[in-house]
Amino acid sequence: MDSVKTPGLYIHIPFCLSKCPYCDFYSSTSFSAISDFLDALFKEMERYGHRFDPFDTVYLGGGTPSLLSLEQLEDILMNVRKNFHLISNAEITLEANPADLNQSLLESILEIGFNRINIGIQSFDEKVLDFLGRRHSVRQAISAIEASRKAGFHNIGLDLIYGIPGQDMALWFETLKQAVTFSPEHLSCYQLTIESNTPLGRRYQAGEFSIPGEELQYEFFMKTSQFLEHTGYIHYEVSNFARGMEYSSRHNQKYWNHSPYLGLGPSAHSFQGNQRWWNHRSLDQYLATIKAGDFPIQGKEALTMEQLQLEALYLGLRTKNGICLQDFKNRYDSDFLSGKKKILEKLEEEGFLSIRNGRLYPTPTGLAIADSLSLI
Ligand code: SF4
Repeated sequence: MDSVKTPGLYIHIPFCLSKCPYCDFYSSTSFSAISDFLDALFKEMERYGHRFDPFDTVYLGGGTPSLLSLEQLEDILMNVRKNFHLISNAEITLEANPADLNQSLLESILEIGFNRINIGIQSFDEKVLDFLGRRHSVRQAISAIEASRKAGFHNIGLDLIYGIPGQDMALWFETLKQAVTFSPEHLSCYQLTIESNTPLGRRYQAGEFSIPGEELQYEFFMKTSQFLEHTGYIHYEVSNFARGMEYSSRHNQKYWNHSPYLGLGPSAHSFQGNQRWWNHRSLDQYLATIKAGDFPIQGKEALTMEQLQLEALYLGLRTKNGICLQDFKNRYDSDFLSGKKKILEKLEEEGFLSIRNGRLYPTPTGLAIADSLSLI
């Protein structure tokens, strides 16, 4: 939680060629509305105007932003620049599916202004890709990474998923070891979460498969962390690793350190001060509200000081950097941490937290149980 709070811009591209059965993100597989969506998105940008900027990050996520044509991607960045001020070395990320990428396209993507690419690899095991319902193959994953490097990307992030039914440690490590052979600047290793409202969630509830128990999950987490740290990556957030802090995701850090962010597009969330709001999770409703001249906001909440403090504590403890106690005092209520002194000291004794040099840090074990630390 540092005092510099430059805002970030997130743009949700709500289209996918097919839905992966585990995914809970909002997207549509019907492409007929792409051009209406882009028109609405540009209107939404105009409507916000200069209320947030300057931004130092732009993140195109989704959905599958790499499904858009180069012209459409260029149009989005042009409209971002027309409506908002970006600082000169802004981090501009494109989330991509390996199946959509080739070297000449990647060269053009770099040329129009993206300087970071985050590729949804998930696994280098064909069977796992099949279980996850991914539309790309292992061969496509490998050639997408190689093409990104050859095209000139110096900031490549790979997403991987572990804890897949039937996957043991050895199988997961085959994927992990293959990933590091490409020396990606950033790795996100997510544990598979089964969302009840997804096709995979329904199969799980029907008892079709089981998932690793808590002990095995902990082992996956710790061994992944130890291996990647040993290989030269910094485990800087529960699921995120960077080959040097300069490669940590500047954009995602905004979510963890309570920086302001503006989210555009269906289902996107925004945060500023103590206000949080989110857009309609339906393309039709998003288009209709924009057409009616309104903001496409579905809901909002004003966080109380206590909610802000709890969130800051919980989010800060998800990061290796932890929480700067002085910053916390300045920004929130000075009494909060001293009010939690007993429980924090107990967690320190038990090896989950460490308090030193004016900061409160999670230990590696603390990172592994970061979700439960939110309950303190
Ligand atoms: S995981 Fe990605 S590609 Fe798959 S449905 Fe979700 S957003 Fe689309």
